[in-house]
Amino acid sequence: MDRKIALTGDRPTGCLHLGHYIGTLKNRVALQHQYDQYVMVADVQALTDYFANPSKIQESLLEVVADYISVGIDPNVSTIFVQSQISALPELVMYYMNLVTTSRLERNPTVKNEIQQKGYGDTIPVGFFCYPVSQAADITAFKAEIIPVGEDQLPLIELCNEVVRRFNRTYNTDCLKEAKAQLSKTSRLVGIDGKAKASKSLNNAIFLSDSADTVKKKIWSMYTDPNHIKISDPGRVEGNVVFTYLDAFYDEKDEIENLKAKYCKGGLGDTALKSLLNDVLQKMLLPIREKRATLKKKDLLEIISEGSKKAAIIANQTLQEVRNAIGINYQSML
Ligand code: ATP
Ligand code: MG
Repeated sequence: MDRKIALTGDRPTGCLHLGHYIGTLKNRVALQHQYDQYVMVADVQALTDYFANPSKIQESLLEVVADYISVGIDPNVSTIFVQSQISALPELVMYYMNLVTTSRLERNPTVKNEIQQKGYGDTIPVGFFCYPVSQAADITAFKAEIIPVGEDQLPLIELCNEVVRRFNRTYNTDCLKEAKAQLSKTSRLVGIDGKAKASKSLNNAIFLSDSADTVKKKIWSMYTDPNHIKISDPGRVEGNVVFTYLDAFYDEKDEIENLKAKYCKGGLGDTALKSLLNDVLQKMLLPIREKRATLKKKDLLEIISEGSKKAAIIANQTLQEVRNAIGINYQSML
């Protein structure tokens, strides 16, 4: 039976955090049994940020693979591979770049936001500027139908689908497939500082590999309500990170509602609330941390080596179809 394909991935620029867990990793664990799932460690994309500091990527690569396996992505079920090992991908990028205008990239909300965040001004490296095209190559190479992602990725998937439509129309083919984003209920987890998004680069995240102590410290530093000073003071739930995390990670919804009501009225302290969140997160993270401790470097290397071999075969098949469609597969003309 032909199974549908899911593609997903992360840049190895640090360990994965609770935003990844709730935004994509949990979905991937579930999806792997319904789809042929490819999970890509996007080291080439990471170079667009870290080209001058590749050791960061080297150090993070196996950490990310360890994160995958510790949350339950099973390398015998999902194919875990490394982007730089798939030589068909950059060739696809060359063909797709003809189909995307610079103004389209400039106007893409995700790219626009990142250009601002990184303070590039008018000195944007071409490599960074083109990463959405590279992402289109990653997705289409595997003919992925489903992409489990966080909210920030939606404009990039839309751009990928534009490339697909333009390619198929231009070369009168249907060899490329459009993809659908799959968002989780929490598709944008806020940072512990209350900032828009928990993220590696903003250093405001709880990492899956953090020690129990670090997790506790981070919870205790969480942004709550600066006007809620005495326990008896009425407090605000909106923008209160502890409640946001309880909403995301605690299944006892009725209890959360009761706590919210009590907090708003006055009479519930931040410490009691943080203790509850600490219990919830420690319980969730313990088996992940324990699994992580059993993983060996040699096995992780073996997993990405095998996964990359398998992924290369699939991507190469698509590349041949793309060359055929354009009419530059001279080998097949001989
Ligand atoms: P960086 O700070 O380097 O951009 P990041 O922490 O934002 O790193 P990415 O590698 O950009 O992580 O994201 C990988 C995937 O995880 C994407 O699909 C993204 O949407 C999702 N993701 C990242 N952070 C969050 C979050 N806070 N909430 C939900 N999903 C997230
Ligand atoms: Mg990001």
